[in-house]
Amino acid sequence: MTSPISPVRVRYAPSPTGIPHIGNIRTALFCWLLAKQTKGQFIVRIEDTDRTRYDTEAEKAIFESLDWLGLDWDEGPGKGGPFGPYVQSERQQTYIDAALKLVESGHAYFDDTTPDQLHALRERQRAAKQPPRYDGRGRHRSPEEIEVSRQAGSPVTIRLKVPDHGAVSFVDAVRGKITFELKELDDFVILKSDQMPTYHLAHILDDKAMGVTHVIRGDEWISSTPRHLLIHQALGIEPPTYVHVPLILGKDKAKLSKRHGATSALEYRDLGFLPDAVFNFMCLLGWSPGDDTEVMTREEIVRRFSIDRINDSPATFDSEKLEWMNGVYIRNMDEDTLIVELLPFMERPESEGGLPDSVTRPINRAYFKRLLPLVHERLKLLTQGTETLDFFFADNVNPAAEDLPGRKMDAEMTKRALEAALEMCKTVAPFEPEHLEAEYRSLAEKTEMKPGQLFSPIRVAITGKAFAPPLFDTMAAIGQDRCTERIYKAIGILRSAGTSPAE
Ligand code: GLU
Repeated sequence: MTSPISPVRVRYAPSPTGIPHIGNIRTALFCWLLAKQTKGQFIVRIEDTDRTRYDTEAEKAIFESLDWLGLDWDEGPGKGGPFGPYVQSERQQTYIDAALKLVESGHAYFDDTTPDQLHALRERQRAAKQPPRYDGRGRHRSPEEIEVSRQAGSPVTIRLKVPDHGAVSFVDAVRGKITFELKELDDFVILKSDQMPTYHLAHILDDKAMGVTHVIRGDEWISSTPRHLLIHQALGIEPPTYVHVPLILGKDKAKLSKRHGATSALEYRDLGFLPDAVFNFMCLLGWSPGDDTEVMTREEIVRRFSIDRINDSPATFDSEKLEWMNGVYIRNMDEDTLIVELLPFMERPESEGGLPDSVTRPINRAYFKRLLPLVHERLKLLTQGTETLDFFFADNVNPAAEDLPGRKMDAEMTKRALEAALEMCKTVAPFEPEHLEAEYRSLAEKTEMKPGQLFSPIRVAITGKAFAPPLFDTMAAIGQDRCTERIYKAIGILRSAGTSPAE
């Protein structure tokens, strides 16, 4: 099997019942890729016929996820198109008409079995250790009986008649031929008592009306596909090509869930991931380019994407790999773009992971631009801007006394180092990286310390951290006065911790 060359029409058809899961968005991504590659159309359709579970926030999150990942659609809400509306609740009449036609043609029937009766039926089946299934009793109801129920306000649905023997099969583009025995299936509802269609009927009518050529969807839908094939048969239409994409599992091989951490694209956005990195990573969930390449531009992925390289076995979500990949994307970003990405994270309130509230917003960009090269290589997440750079902005550096000594240094030696460092800091000029380095190295010699020993307490005093960007660049960026104050403060911390002998 090879990818279709002719332009496809594919659709992403989410139900706005919850914040879209990463697996759901991955389906949208595969649709988008195939549409771009074949110069076809990517359609977005909102499947909101389950009015009891409809959630406005979920709908908003769907569009936000698509926007964030740059999955632009050719037809759909907000975009229009020749086959609209692209929201199922606005297409209700077409579903009602089709369901009634199926009744007329003898493929479907009205059913007035009440929820209580269905419940009682299931209970009996459970007691008899039989699988719960509808028993087809509505097939024998007369139009008059249905009318009486209707008048009495009882719920009336329309069900498709499923032949009680035979089989249906289809060739899935990922898994090959799949066959289902019809005796396993019961007559299922296509139009609910609220006059809304079930997903089974609605999506088929819409896919047909919208000229969808390939249905790309999660493989949890495979078991429903025989129903869909039967509806196609009853309507006398050809099914599309089915492309069922594999499940996404956590590293422990369990289905990816909250337990594994973030499960929606928007959570990854908020955690400091870049859309391009998430896009790249998600493409590799269930697809591979056929070699070891992992980091690829959108263009490259679009060019290399093909259905025949979609795996039929589940994909594993490796969050460490995602973080690594995000780091690669951050490293490859030019500084001006990265600043634009980092600023909003650092300008958030302190309680949300931003710089201390004492730091004035907006952040001074020229200053930030000077700092970024010092940490650019080390950033893996946009949220790390704050923890990596906070000491450049905020003066409340407050190291613990026990963090100040470097390797093999006692409190006395640490104090000596900091005192010597303080004296030099006050007067050294120019306060520039090379000069600072030369001066502090000779100070180490004079005070008979290893450079590392002298520099460690200075680093902690100035940054509050044992790991920080190159010391002298850092000092130069922070400036002479602020560095002097911080070293002075650290000496005070050592003293009041009582770690230095009383003077
Ligand atoms: N509305 C369905 C869902 O959200 C669509 C399934 C399909 O793509 O056919 O999963």
